[in-house]
Amino acid sequence: MSEYIIETNGLTRRFGKHVSVDHIDLRVPEGKIYGFLGANGAGKTTTIRMLLSLIRADEGSVQIMGKSLQHEREKILRNVGSLVEGPSYYGHLSAYKNLKIICKLMDLPEKDIDQVLDIVRLAPYAKKTVKDYSLGMKQRLGIAQALIRRPKLLILDEPINGLDPAGIQEIRNLMLSLCHEQGITIFLSSHILSEIQSVAEEIGIIQNGKLIFQNSIKELENKRRTKLLIETENQQEAFRALSSAGADVVLQDGKLLISLTEKMDQSRIFNILQPFSIQHMQELTASFEDIFLTLTGRDGSL
Ligand code: ATP
Repeated sequence: MSEYIIETNGLTRRFGKHVSVDHIDLRVPEGKIYGFLGANGAGKTTTIRMLLSLIRADEGSVQIMGKSLQHEREKILRNVGSLVEGPSYYGHLSAYKNLKIICKLMDLPEKDIDQVLDIVRLAPYAKKTVKDYSLGMKQRLGIAQALIRRPKLLILDEPINGLDPAGIQEIRNLMLSLCHEQGITIFLSSHILSEIQSVAEEIGIIQNGKLIFQNSIKELENKRRTKLLIETENQQEAFRALSSAGADVVLQDGKLLISLTEKMDQSRIFNILQPFSIQHMQELTASFEDIFLTLTGRDGSL
């Protein structure tokens, strides 16, 4: 069986001539929060709708929990909770009654309602009509509606959109506790890098329908290449020596800016620069945003 809770192969969807999702191979490990990052229009919602079988794929396959979505749709979706494009609810009813309707419709035990309301921290407001809830509370009710079926996998499409900082913090804490305390895998989409960075262990970056990066957040951080900013007695000569030795070097405001690599490490650079005597040296590390910019050509907020 696959070690991934979601695995797609060549998943593709076109709208007319436009390829919205272009042969993506998702690998979502079980028991973690996977952040699916992309700008508006990059293809996140289209991908999620295919994962939930809300629209069909033009090409490729989806396996969830080791089963083919095409062949075992109902069995799979029974174990998947989702919140896509905002929650839907009866505003004139309480959160409790909204959940009760879902239990009736889906033949689920009503005894779980209190616990689920407690998890999303709506228990004190369970009897209040939902139309009087804040946006963040409505969003948490949406998550409660997904949780009531006790899913192994929770798919959340931009769950913090439109929330105030307190609401964002609530959802963030909720995602962390659902994953770490309840063992639920969370597939979370967002267009904000820092949002994904604050909760996710794994990340997939989608741009123009293509998955341009997929790995652990740690691995993305490893891409931060350290650079050295050096001044010597003879910058022009030092620059030539470094260039001809194959270093990635530029002259910036009269200083040598050198990228460290495995081959061109600090001691090798010192060796090359020995004849020019180093006067000043500074180490620079790229920020997470810098790496992102290198990958996507855009800054942290897409
Ligand atoms: P957003 O955060 O804005 O929802 P997204 O990453 O979720 O962005 P999608 O909604 O998946 O992006 O859209 C991807 C592309 O597919 C866009 O260019 C969009 O215009 C197009 N698209 C999505 N749904 C349809 C549709 N039903 N008909 C035509 N084009 C569509």
